[in-house]
Amino acid sequence: MNTPAIGSTVLGYPRIGPRRELKRAVEAYWAGRLDADALAVVARDLRADTWRELAAAGLDSVPGNTFSFYDHVLDTAVLFDAVPRRFRDLGLSPVDTYFAAARGRDGVPPLELTKWFDTNYHYLVPELDPSTRFALTGDKPIAEFREALDLGVTTRPVLLGPVTFLLLAKASAAAPADFTPLDLLDRLVDRYVDLLSALADAGAPWVQLDEPAFAADRTEAELAALRRAYTRLGEATARPAILVAGYFGDLGDALPVLADAPVEAVAVDLVTAPASVNRIPTLLGLRDKTLVAGLVDGRNVWRADLRGALSTAATLLGSVGELAVSTSCSLLHVPYDLDAETDLDPAVVARLAFARQKVAEVVLLGTALRRDGTEIGSATGGTPSVDAGVRARIAELGPEHRTRAPYAERAAVQRTRLALPPLATTTIGSFPQTGEVRKARAGLRDGTLDEAGYAERMRAEIERVVRLQEEIGLDVLVHGEPERNDMVQYFAEHLDGFASTNLGWVQSYGSRCVRPPIIHGDVSRPEPITVGWSSYAQSLTGKPVKGMLTGPVTILAWSFVRDDQPLAATAEQVALALRDEIRDLEEAGIGIVQVDEPALRELLPLRAEQREDYLDWAVGSFRLATAGAATATQVHTHLCYSEFGDVIDAIDGLDADVTTIEAARSRMEVLDDLRSIGFGRAVGPGVYDIHSPTVPTEDEVVDLLRAALDAVPGELLWVNPDCGLKTRGYAEVEPALRTLVAAAHRVRG
Ligand code: GLN
Ligand code: ZN
Repeated sequence: MNTPAIGSTVLGYPRIGPRRELKRAVEAYWAGRLDADALAVVARDLRADTWRELAAAGLDSVPGNTFSFYDHVLDTAVLFDAVPRRFRDLGLSPVDTYFAAARGRDGVPPLELTKWFDTNYHYLVPELDPSTRFALTGDKPIAEFREALDLGVTTRPVLLGPVTFLLLAKASAAAPADFTPLDLLDRLVDRYVDLLSALADAGAPWVQLDEPAFAADRTEAELAALRRAYTRLGEATARPAILVAGYFGDLGDALPVLADAPVEAVAVDLVTAPASVNRIPTLLGLRDKTLVAGLVDGRNVWRADLRGALSTAATLLGSVGELAVSTSCSLLHVPYDLDAETDLDPAVVARLAFARQKVAEVVLLGTALRRDGTEIGSATGGTPSVDAGVRARIAELGPEHRTRAPYAERAAVQRTRLALPPLATTTIGSFPQTGEVRKARAGLRDGTLDEAGYAERMRAEIERVVRLQEEIGLDVLVHGEPERNDMVQYFAEHLDGFASTNLGWVQSYGSRCVRPPIIHGDVSRPEPITVGWSSYAQSLTGKPVKGMLTGPVTILAWSFVRDDQPLAATAEQVALALRDEIRDLEEAGIGIVQVDEPALRELLPLRAEQREDYLDWAVGSFRLATAGAATATQVHTHLCYSEFGDVIDAIDGLDADVTTIEAARSRMEVLDDLRSIGFGRAVGPGVYDIHSPTVPTEDEVVDLLRAALDAVPGELLWVNPDCGLKTRGYAEVEPALRTLVAAAHRVRG
């Protein structure tokens, strides 16, 4: 067969719909407002629009199978019949079984949701054990290939590769202790062989197998598994040409393995790992393969430097069999279309590219490469705004700006000032967001409510929340965050150097989308942000009210960040703005300030060798934000959404007076980690799992607190939920907080 060249392509595309059509449709289906046929129509239209758009844009190779009703990892498990018993036993239709695995049903817990590498996308973790028999029972990639072909578009089905699939899976509860999912490799690869054969029968010239797990550190055994899998797949008799894609970093030792494997093409991420360019000419195995050079950033929103990309591509030309150009990874992580944004500053727009614009960049690059690069500009569209004041302050910073008085001294002064009981009770910040609160925010946005009317409603809500906390008997109160739609977006809207989009939605998990702000220039704080709300709350009560801020690392993690300077430099600018905010909170009489860093673990690099550098700046920016606080000001931090084993020293390094941390689900395990490093400051391990609608009993909370007391002395132990309460309802939150206070009193006694 004569295989067409890949030429220009993208590794994947958004699927939620340019106007979140898929989100609306699946949510309507879940609510019983849309039937399965109507849902299928929405999905088919979205797929058709995507293929037509990508083909019309001029890509030589259009990716297929990029659609998903919820998650592509779950799709893969379903395709190979690896859905746990508990979901099949529900006796539902295939689509409902799929959604049951994603969301749980009738008391059956869903698959675990976790981060897709170092992105903010979450996938569902397959559960496997020795009894898992893979079978090719699904036909999604084949059916979608045919569907596209009927529209006149030949696609390159994109599949999660077998090795990464197994590395992302976990052993089910039924598995013996020595089992790892990778034990199932041969069995699974046999089914991939069947799938490749079916795709070849359908007429697919190419298939893409994604192996991003190899951008992280891997063992020899895992590299051997990669070699074995692709030798077997490559030797399959009836199959499309195979492109193996590795992205999110340097493929390290996996690159030579793939270069020597009997596959036709390898895709590398030259945006995250530009140094890979130097290794490519040394890999003789690539001389008769296609190298797909990921030169356009698939994860960030900046326009590509096409001239730079072109010269990189040109240096590779002689070293590989054929050269194709692409995005660095799937475009799943960026919004659909910049042209849909009407309110962005044109000077910022000139520097941006969303999915659609990135496709055009790849096409242009492909054309220029064929024509010797004569007609390409280096137009990256202008430069970021510079704030000389911020730059001057950063130049003056010394170690003293990141250092507070010793903890013992702070603790003593704070004890006198705050006079809190042992096992002090508090919450993490947000209270349930009521319909009224949402309505007021929407009213302010669309102009039906003026600033004064809005402020009045927020104050009424704050007063209600303060009175409730007093009545429940909590020791440290919060204002409840009614004014915040989102803990990052809120600060983005009040800081210079940030822009917000109207339609820049990106899938986070399932039907859940986020609209990350864009940090496009130097960051500064034109005026105080939270001081009015916090000091109003404090004016209502004699109990201490905690000020509530989002930390620099989390603000960066959940934004699109300028890429013309190191993340560390941007983090410092954000930190300075927060430092000023803390000073203003102190001046307004606030004695406790919490700086949330739930994303501290999330940005941890995939490769161990890069971690120290990251943790240095991450911790440094938190300390820059908080170390200006007076000795008498109690600084809290809050961490959640992850396992903390890898960052336990960094948590210590934050030097917060009080660290509240997710712990209820893992039954206080994190405390052992903290004790093992001699963590000596106060800690509030969450005793109420806010991710579950169940209200804990007093005995359960007492048990958790007694377990915690084994690791932490009473005067350093705080009592609080696992996370903010904004996604819960008052029907659960009120009894849960009463239980928490009662349990604290019992253990104190
Ligand atoms: N203060 C925030 C809240 O309570 C913290 C949220 C979080 O950790 N994700 O909502
Ligand atoms: Zn949290």
